[in-house]
Formats: sequence, structure tokens, C-alpha cells
Amino acid sequence: MTTTAPRIIPTFKGPAGQEDMPYLLTPGPLTTSRSVKLTMLADWGSRDIEFRQIVADIRKALVKLANCGPAYECVIMQGSGTFAIEAALGSFCPSSGTKTLVVANGAYGDRAANILERIGRPCLKIDKGDSAAPSTEEVASALDADPGISHVWMIHCETTSGIVNRIDDVAKAVKERGRVYMVDAMSSFGALPLDMEASGIDVMVSSSNKCIEGVPGFSYVLVRRDMLEASKGKCHSLVLDLFDQWRGLEANGQFRFTPPTHALVAFHQALKEHEQQGGVAARGNRYARNAQILIKGMQDMGFTTLLGDDEAGPIIQTFLTPRDPNFDFEQFYESLRARGFAIYPGKLTKRPSFRIGTIGQIDDKVMNAVLEAIGDVLREMKVTDLVPLEA
Ligand SMILES: *Cc1c(COP(=O)(O)O)cnc(C)c1O
Repeated sequence: MTTTAPRIIPTFKGPAGQEDMPYLLTPGPLTTSRSVKLTMLADWGSRDIEFRQIVADIRKALVKLANCGPAYECVIMQGSGTFAIEAALGSFCPSSGTKTLVVANGAYGDRAANILERIGRPCLKIDKGDSAAPSTEEVASALDADPGISHVWMIHCETTSGIVNRIDDVAKAVKERGRVYMVDAMSSFGALPLDMEASGIDVMVSSSNKCIEGVPGFSYVLVRRDMLEASKGKCHSLVLDLFDQWRGLEANGQFRFTPPTHALVAFHQALKEHEQQGGVAARGNRYARNAQILIKGMQDMGFTTLLGDDEAGPIIQTFLTPRDPNFDFEQFYESLRARGFAIYPGKLTKRPSFRIGTIGQIDDKVMNAVLEAIGDVLREMKVTDLVPLEA
């Protein structure tokens, strides 16, 4: 396969079929398998019986993957992950009387609180800044202090830093207090175990282009059917209305508006590969190994990770920017890209940092190659002092 734009030929060949393009070491879009990409070389009609069957299969598979029983439904929403987040917040969070508690420790928690504010839904935030872990006790005491909190929103893996939050412990505290528990498992679902029903998670959102290793184009909400039924007429938005979207899918297996057919067919294949490769456990293990190799190699070179080893999940790793005046992130990024790896700038508000994703169709070979490339680039930039810049 050739690309239209002139590309740099990387020293480490890119993924099969696109050897002239870098591996995406980012938390989505990410590098997908060639077989997933190949499914997109067909134009499906959205009303075709086979296409509708694919959509039905995807919805069923996602319910199963989240360990939900028959009391749960899967609603697919066109658009990136944030579309499902806004759909879920707008469909299920109260607009008066009670409020939603957002447990935030990064950009995605902040974004959920912003959405609630924008759509006029009362919201309270536990703000842990960039990367600190919220404790179960904090959430419990916030709930005890304010009986007006009816819903809690929390992020599983906060992709801002890569920290994995203890959603199960918090679930217990939330359920003991009889509140609704909603989780953004966008960047973890399919790689970290999620037992929605047993944990007491009422709502979960994720998207096509993260750990299932599909391509961007849609997101999905798993939710208890009684909540979905009760949400009729509640959403602030016509397109994001999950009840209406669900009724459409149930009535004739079709979307209300044009579905991203290619992305859905690719995701169907990605789900098959996910299962063939050993499901959540195997995917989680591959990512964990990627993360381990990367962290060890970077620490050996002298880099410092933002998070402690017990906090960093297998999804994305944050490294602090070295204080060496020769270190220039733009040059670092471009030189790595020329060698076949696209990394990710930091999103922390306080400490200068950059991130390297450890998810997608990548393995230990890719991780070892990126470490070698990083060593080369540091020598090329004449960077020797890897002690982090002061906060
Ligand atoms: C990727 C991601 C999202 C969604 O972002 P989009 O750019 O809308 O796809 C939401 N939450 C988390 C934790 C994420 O990692």
C-alpha cells in the first residue's frame, strides 16, 4: 500500500503494508493490524442485512466483554469517545434536584465536568490535579457530606498521565451509598479487566480506536436497560440522545443517521482478533510487557517517569522532560518520527513531559526498537543530562 503524501522512509520499517509510515505510540488512533485495515476495502450499505448483523454482533460482543448480564444494553454512537461521554452525561445525569460528582485527576475528568457545566447539569468536582490518585475514602466522604449527589463519574485509566484509578474500590463505596456509578473506561476497556455487573458499574463508555484496536469513528455506551428506559426525553441533544439511538437500533438494526460503516466492519474484525489472541488477559499482558520494556529501558538511559511503578498502568507512560538545554521536544519528536515512531506530547499542566503509548498492534520488538531510536536521537541532539526540569 502506498501513501499519497511523500514520506520519510523510517529506519525501522513501519507496520505491515505501510512500511513507510511510523508506528503510532499514541493512545488512539493507534496502529491496527493489516487484516483490520483490509476489511475497509469494501463499501457496505447501511441497510444491508449483513451489515445490520455485524452491528448486532458488535453490540452483543461488547456486552459480553464487559461481563454484563441481560439487564444491560449496548448503544453505539457515531463520533469519537467524547461523543459517547457527552451522550451519557446528557442522557443520565440530573438537570435539577440532585447533582453529579466528577472524580477528576487529569484532562478527561476536567472535560467531563466541562461538558456537564456546558449542558447545564449540576456538577461537583473532586480535583486531584494532573496525576494524583483519588482515594476511596475521599469519594465516600464527599458522598456522605452531600446527600444531593446522585451520580458519580470516574475515569478508569486517566490517559493524561496513564494512571489507573481504583474503580472497583470506589464502586463499592458508591453502591453502598445507593448512588449511580458511571465510568469512562475509554483507554482501558479490552485490556484491563472490567466486571461491570459484579462491580456495580451502571454506565461505561469506550470507543472504537483504543484497546480493541479498531479505527476511529464511533464510541459506545454500556448501560442498565432500566436507566436507558428512564432516560427517554432527557437528553439535551437530538443526535446524542441514547434512548432514541437505542430505539432505532432495536427497531430495525439501523442507525438513525449515517453510520461509519467502514469503522464498524473494521471493529468487528478487531473484536474477532481480540478473542483469537486470548481476550482481555492476553491483550493486557502484551501491553504490560510493552510498558515494562519501555519503562526499564528509559530508566536505564536516565529518564524519570511521572508515576510510581505501582501506579502506572500498561496503556501510556509519561516521562519528565530532561533539563539538558540541548533537549528540544520538537526535534526529539521529528527525529523519532523519521525513525518510524510517532510519540505523544505531554498534557500535564504543571510538569513538562512527554508520553509514549504502549497499546495497539505493537510488541516487544517495537518497544526495543523505539528505545534504540531514542538513544540515537539523544546522541544526535547531544543530550546527556536526563535529570528532569524542575516543576
Ligand atoms: C481517548 C479518551 C477519551 C476520548 O477522547 P476522543 O478524542 O473523543 O476519542 C476519553 N477519555 C479517555 C480517558 C480517553 O483516553
